[in-house]
Amino acid sequence: MKITDIKTFFVDPGVTVDLGDTKNWLFIRIETDEGIYGWGECYTLLDREKSIAAYVNHIGHYLIGRNPLNIKHFTTVMYEDYADKQGAMDYFCAISGIEQALWDIVGKWLNTPVYNLLGGPCRDKIKVYANGWWEGARTPEEFARKATQVVESGFKALKFYPFDGLKQTYISKQKEQFAIEKVRAVREAIGPDIDLMIDVYRILSPLYAIKAARMLEEFKPFWYEEPIAPDSIDDLAEVRRNINIPIVTGEALYTKSDYRQVFEKRAADIINPDVCSCGGILEMKEIAAMAEPYQVIVSPHNYNSNTIGLAASLHVSACIPNFLILEYFVNFKVRSDEISVGPLNVEDGYISIPKGPGLGVEINEKALARYPYRDFVNPAVRSRCDESS
Ligand SMILES: [Mg+2]
Repeated sequence: MKITDIKTFFVDPGVTVDLGDTKNWLFIRIETDEGIYGWGECYTLLDREKSIAAYVNHIGHYLIGRNPLNIKHFTTVMYEDYADKQGAMDYFCAISGIEQALWDIVGKWLNTPVYNLLGGPCRDKIKVYANGWWEGARTPEEFARKATQVVESGFKALKFYPFDGLKQTYISKQKEQFAIEKVRAVREAIGPDIDLMIDVYRILSPLYAIKAARMLEEFKPFWYEEPIAPDSIDDLAEVRRNINIPIVTGEALYTKSDYRQVFEKRAADIINPDVCSCGGILEMKEIAAMAEPYQVIVSPHNYNSNTIGLAASLHVSACIPNFLILEYFVNFKVRSDEISVGPLNVEDGYISIPKGPGLGVEINEKALARYPYRDFVNPAVRSRCDESS
C-alpha cells in the first residue's frame, strides 16, 4: 500500500468570536493506492491556522509513495531530517494530524479500531468535562446561570477561565477580585459534588498565581491549569509546592522531550497533552507512559472539533492506564454533527469509544464545503491604551 495524495480542509466552526475563543478547524485526508483513506485533525489557533496547513502541504511531499503502515519511522525522520530537530507549534500540529490519518488508514486496512492497535482499551467509555459553555456570560451571575445549564445537561465536571481577558502577568486587586467572584458564583450554583476546573491560561507570574490559588482554595477547584508561562518549569514547580490545588500543564508542550523536565522537576500533578498538537496518537500514548512511574495522571486537552480530534482523543484515552478525564467543547457540537457521519454523543458525562475500523468516524466532504475558512481578527490582541486599563 502506498500513499498517493494528501488534502487539507478548513472548517468554520460557526462559533462567534468571544474573547478570541474560536478558530477554523483543520482536517487532513490522506489517500492510498488501495482506495483506503484516513482522516486526521490538526490543532489550530485563531489566525494561525494557515501556517499549520502550509506545514501539512510541505510534509505531504515526503509522504507520497510511502507505506502508511510505517507511522513511527515517518514521524521520527520528519522530526530529525525535515525539521532538523527544530520543532515549532505549527510543525507539531501538522505532524499530529498526519499521524492520526495514518492510524485511521492502518485501522481500516486491518479492519479494527485504533484502540486495538495501542494495547487494547483499559475502559469502554471516557469521562469528559465541559468547556466552552459560557458564551455571552460576563458577570458572576451570568456564569452561574450558564454553569447550572451545563450541569443540568448531564456533565459532572466543567472548566472555565476566571482570569480571561487578561494577558498580563500582573493583575490589579479589582480584576483579581472579579475572578474570585466568578468562581464563587459558579461553585455556589453547581454545588459541592460537581468537579470545577480552573484554567489560568498561562497568564500569571508565580507570585500572583500562588496568591490567587490560595484565595481560590475555599471553592475546592478540581485543578489549577497552566497558572504561568508553559516554558517556566522551575517556576511551575515553585507554584505547585506553595498551593493546595493539583497543577495541570502540557497543552503548550510538544512531544516527550518537552515533558521530561515536568516529570523530573515534579512540576505538575496532571498533564494535558493534545492529540492534535503533541505529536499524535502514539506520541500521546508514550508521553502518558513516561508519566506513569512519576505517578502523574493524564487528562487530555481537546480544543478541537467533536469529530476526528475527539475520536483520536477517545481512542488514546481508552488505552492510557493513568487517564483521568477528557476535555469536550460543548459549543463545537452543532457544527461537528453537521459535518460528520454518526456523531459522537455525550451521555451522562461520558462518551463511548467509536467501535468502527480506524478512528471510527467519517466526515461528510460535501458538508465541509458548506463551511469554508472564515477570516477572523484576534480580538484579544491589545492596543497601547489597553495596557493602562
Ligand atoms: Mg488550558
